[in-house]
Amino acid sequence: MCENIRNFAPKKQKHMLKIENLHASIGGKEILKGIDLTVRDGEVHAIMGLNGAGKSTLSNVIVGHPAYEVTEGSITFNGKDLLALNPEERAHEGIFLSFQQPVEIPGVSMVNFMRAALNAKRKHLSLEPMPAGDFLKLMREKRAIVELDSKLASRSVNEGFSGGEKKRNEIFQMAMLEPVLAILDETDSGLDVDALRVVAEGFNKLRKPETSAIVITHYQRLLDYLKPDIIHVLIDGRIVKTGGPELATEIENRGFDWIRTPQPPLGGEQTPQPPLGGE
Ligand code: ADP
Ligand code: MG
Repeated sequence: MCENIRNFAPKKQKHMLKIENLHASIGGKEILKGIDLTVRDGEVHAIMGLNGAGKSTLSNVIVGHPAYEVTEGSITFNGKDLLALNPEERAHEGIFLSFQQPVEIPGVSMVNFMRAALNAKRKHLSLEPMPAGDFLKLMREKRAIVELDSKLASRSVNEGFSGGEKKRNEIFQMAMLEPVLAILDETDSGLDVDALRVVAEGFNKLRKPETSAIVITHYQRLLDYLKPDIIHVLIDGRIVKTGGPELATEIENRGFDWIRTPQPPLGGEQTPQPPLGGE
């Protein structure tokens, strides 16, 4: 493909993720068993489900983690065949995954790491590297949004960071890279209530009307801040239920057991359920 034509294409097109009948395996074991999911510009989707359901597998497959094998189905992003792109190209297309378990990169300073990532993206967009002064100013601005301690920014990536600091750092990295589609894989786990609020509010501040997100979480708490438009329940590698924000409240109250019978993945009407009492 000719890079230049793509880069000078009008920016008006809708950014959109469309996953159809996605099957994926790891170590020969099928984990995703036919996922359908469409995310439009500006939408926030939440994916909920018990441990082992395949939520992290889905996020890893979207960003192109090499350990996972896609055996069937398709993913298009912004009209492009995402599965044909390598992980770096997917990042340059504007997809960002905040890891459930962020890795430590000893010996690589946060500043150098972020500068390399940002300038790689700029190169992809045919832009010059960002001048050092502008870059440091941008670091300061974005750090303030997630209230990331300046001491952390001068250390190696995630090295010796607490669980909460790693999660904050993930959102900081997201802030620096300004993705079109942000995938947050259990960003709330390991965060206390204050840190959760800072991270969630930071995320909201960073959102633009056309930015979309997929938020993976067990808890209503994060969703109270992020206000997803659409909630999906993932069980055993399939999306078995899709609904509005009230679905998250219902799961908070009733758990997942009542949803276990597979239902049509999209457009399946919800049966109204009586509220089950207090918070
Ligand atoms: P979730 O994020 O919903 O908790 P995961 O996507 O992490 O679920 O895991 C889905 C299933 O895939 C689990 O049964 C898990 O044991 C299995 N799995 C994940 N990673 C590997 C791996 N590297 N090798 C083998 N099985 C794996
Ligand atoms: Mg997971």
